[in-house]
Amino acid sequence: MTTSSKNIVLIGAGIMCATLGVMLRKLMPDANISIYERLEKVAAESSDAWNNAGTGHSAFCELNYTALVDGKMNISKALDIASSFEVSKQLWAYLKEQGNLPYEIPFINDIPHMSFVWGEENVSFLKQRYDAMCQSALFQDMKYTTSRTDITDWAPLIMEGRHINEPFAATKMDIGTDVNFGMIARGMIDYLEKSGNVEVHLGHNIEDFSKQSDSRWKIDIENYATGEVKEVLADYVFIGAGGGTLPLLEKCGITEAQGYGGFPVSGHFLRCTNKHVIQRHEAKVYGKAAVGSPPMSVPHLDTRMIDGERSLFFGPYAGFSTKFLKNGSYMDLPLSIEMHNIWPILAAGMRNVDLTKYLIKQVVQSPEDRFKELLVYYPNAKIEDWELTTAGQRVQIIKEDKDKGGVLQFGTEIVCSADHSIAALLGASPGASTSVSIMLEVIQKMFPDEINNKNWQKTLKTMIPSYGSSLIDDADLCMKTRDRTTAILGLFKT
Ligand SMILES: Cc1cc2nc3c(=O)[nH]c(=O)nc-3n(C[C@H](O)[C@H](O)[C@H](O)COP(=O)(O)OP(=O)(O)OC[C@H]3O[C@@H](n4cnc5c(N)ncnc54)[C@H](O)[C@@H]3O)c2cc1C
Repeated sequence: MTTSSKNIVLIGAGIMCATLGVMLRKLMPDANISIYERLEKVAAESSDAWNNAGTGHSAFCELNYTALVDGKMNISKALDIASSFEVSKQLWAYLKEQGNLPYEIPFINDIPHMSFVWGEENVSFLKQRYDAMCQSALFQDMKYTTSRTDITDWAPLIMEGRHINEPFAATKMDIGTDVNFGMIARGMIDYLEKSGNVEVHLGHNIEDFSKQSDSRWKIDIENYATGEVKEVLADYVFIGAGGGTLPLLEKCGITEAQGYGGFPVSGHFLRCTNKHVIQRHEAKVYGKAAVGSPPMSVPHLDTRMIDGERSLFFGPYAGFSTKFLKNGSYMDLPLSIEMHNIWPILAAGMRNVDLTKYLIKQVVQSPEDRFKELLVYYPNAKIEDWELTTAGQRVQIIKEDKDKGGVLQFGTEIVCSADHSIAALLGASPGASTSVSIMLEVIQKMFPDEINNKNWQKTLKTMIPSYGSSLIDDADLCMKTRDRTTAILGLFKT
């Protein structure tokens, strides 16, 4: 049997499985692809627009993607993330051109990305970051200012009523974006359902796995509507269940999954209800994270465009819940603790006391405490204009470490079996923005031979024209690629 006639099961209907699904559909038109999702709706967990911040992470404004190392600004992570976002835009542009994402309302919108800091140390950091980033085509046209007039012009709400005697500074990238990842995932899965050889089963929960003697996976799946449990056989399985990935990975019993644990961090945003205020702000303004806070808790005052409607969010406020999914169970964390990961989890806990303190402070915050944090970014805010919303859950990776026992990681990690038949994605940051590069890595790990064949290379280059080249090293290709996707996606003209 050729690879193309095999059965592939994708678990979860969020942006990750949707992305992998469309790429595999184009690479292996004859393969049978089945997507199983426990909820009744596609992309209703972290990928839904209301459950994430919608930032097209391109490292334009997120200060935690750059670091001063021995007095030198290290921008390597920022370069990786910015180029990954350009890769994502290429797949979305290709699908749009093909009519596979036929939306009238845009799923990606121009919203300038700004960083805003105050205090001598932070201003010096921002200036060094700006000087280093300007060297790369990926960050071409970034603006830097220490002028109150400029910042007031860029984002009036953050300057009005601000009385500070210390220095402040801001950077701005006009080509920043806000992305509705839920809309993209739903569009991709709609396309898959119509494309033949793809079945999408909503309301189906994956319960268990076992490897058969013929090396296929037997998967037990419960249909929530009928209570019936059926068995499905698959040659390849990808677990893209977001927060639900870790428990499933533990069930499949592969040695590569040993030593992994998860630490859930929940999120809340303040959402503005005053239309007049919403209209006066048009930017994603990111600041500096508080000491001890996890990197994804960097505060930001954010214009969002969701289903054609403009809104304004501030946050996120981190929190702690033992659920791994927003629609999960409080038993998720306790049930995920097993012999193989108990020591890494304890060791990681002991090494992250600052994070624990930070989360406790966040959990016990009153509405007034939360509002005080907003005032730091929007001094004239009125408490009655804001309401609290609950975002998605992020399960951070805890990983066994030879020297430290266990470490807490804030990125993503692909775990793949030695025979390449099953892979899983753990972690959540930088997340949906880099989904295409992450899924390319999954394809590389699951299909290491096929990916090198001529047809696969050709198809990959059709979907992602820069595939195989570096947008970091090749400035000319970077600008051409950006201009092309910008035009197709109807974005800012560079
Ligand atoms: C507060 C917050 C802010 C964020 N902000 C950004 C941002 O600004 N930019 C960005 O790029 N990313 C952001 N992210 C990250 C981004 O949302 C995620 O990386 C991305 O949505 C993950 O997609 P996914 O498909 O892996 O997971 P999900 O969208 O969570 O999908 C997983 C699916 O698997 C299903 N599932 C789980 N268990 C099972 C099971 N046993 N059987 C069947 N189905 C199952 C779930 O129901 C769910 O639908 C943010 C996340 C959060 C929580």
